[in-house]
Amino acid sequence: MRKVSVFGATGSIGQNTIDLIDRDPAAYEVVALSGGRNIAQLAEDAKRLRAQVAVTAHEELLDDLRDALAGSGVEATAGAGAIEEAACRPADWVMSAIVGAAGLKPGLRALEQGATLALANKESLVTAGALIMGTAKTHGARILPVDSEHSAVFQGLVGEDFGSVERIIITASGGAFRDWSLEDMARATPEQASSHPNWNMGQRITIDSASMFNKALEVIETKEFFGCSHEMIEVLVHPESLVHALVGFRDGALMAHVGAPDMRHAIGYALHWPERRALPVERLDLAKIGQMHFRAPDPARYPALRLAHEVMEAGGLSGAAFNAAKEVALDGFIEHHIGFLEMAEVVEEVLTRLWGGACHINAEMTLDTVHQTDHIARKTARDVIAERQ
Ligand code: NDP
Ligand code: MG
Repeated sequence: MRKVSVFGATGSIGQNTIDLIDRDPAAYEVVALSGGRNIAQLAEDAKRLRAQVAVTAHEELLDDLRDALAGSGVEATAGAGAIEEAACRPADWVMSAIVGAAGLKPGLRALEQGATLALANKESLVTAGALIMGTAKTHGARILPVDSEHSAVFQGLVGEDFGSVERIIITASGGAFRDWSLEDMARATPEQASSHPNWNMGQRITIDSASMFNKALEVIETKEFFGCSHEMIEVLVHPESLVHALVGFRDGALMAHVGAPDMRHAIGYALHWPERRALPVERLDLAKIGQMHFRAPDPARYPALRLAHEVMEAGGLSGAAFNAAKEVALDGFIEHHIGFLEMAEVVEEVLTRLWGGACHINAEMTLDTVHQTDHIARKTARDVIAERQ
């Protein structure tokens, strides 16, 4: 039996992971499941899967979790430290699917134990790519990408020499506002931005898809995971979300990964790697689909993509600043303090202030310097938003 843990188990990726585990429960021994506020879901899954421990991120919810698990034999713990402790428990395969910068530490702890880390939490690579990749190397641990584009690139590289790769193209659906005018985008509400045309995901990543901040994070994630130069990475708008990524080789060949927009494909690939096992995803009928469309992203509508390239050029701790500023700007939009297009303006202003000397962006990357940068960028972003009120 494989020992598995799922961090962010109550979220969209977490629930899709549990769906796959549920289909073959005898194959897995569940060590830890973590969640946040959704105690009922966390407890129900932990009991059914007989997890060793269930952890909520919120200490004030520990009693609720204990009550929900009473008599089940599943241990209940709470708080960020308890999540880290659970990530230190021996497991063969660990899903990192907490949303945001909070996913970094548990991922690092799992890698330090030598576990295979299925990485959905792209923020880990954006904020601390060198740290995550370095920790995996030091401890002989493997990271498997779960983001659909990165899983697609990873699959496109099987048996290939990375030296023959010329470019990596990741696709973007364009999100909720791909056909909206800039004027309408400026007036868009969080509710409108929270509905994705193709993918069913958590609210934050859905809004980030509409602004292309999600794609901006993914461009940085690509650079960090595959260790390529940022000039090699391209973004292509593809409204149907059927081609997830393409790898361009020096002989001119483009290898495209085509599949239904269902995260259980990428999660299942990471779960069963290096084997391919049957997965409950739709088989595409290309004759029925008939057409697919591609276009270049409009830089005026999606400044986040330009910012991503500036962040990669600046390097150092810029990714941590970028992600933190983006998370605060997203909160500001969700809470109606700033408009949809202002998110990119806030992030750009934060980067300008930090690059201008408010922070040692080129300090050595450690967990401490990443946290300091995250902290300063969040404070600066809150200041920038307050100045706009
Ligand atoms: P969701 O918002 O659906 O789920 C997030 C999970 O993290 C939930 O279990 C939530 O708990 C938990 N959580 C929230 N805040 C904290 C915190 N501070 N500390 C610990 N746990 C917390 O997110 P998604 O599943 O959509 O995304 C998860 C990650 O995967 C993100 O990094 C995202 O970018 C990435 N990803 C997601 C894709 C998707 O299709 N959804 C595709 C590719 C990547 P609770 O809900 O109980 O409060
Ligand atoms: Mg993706």
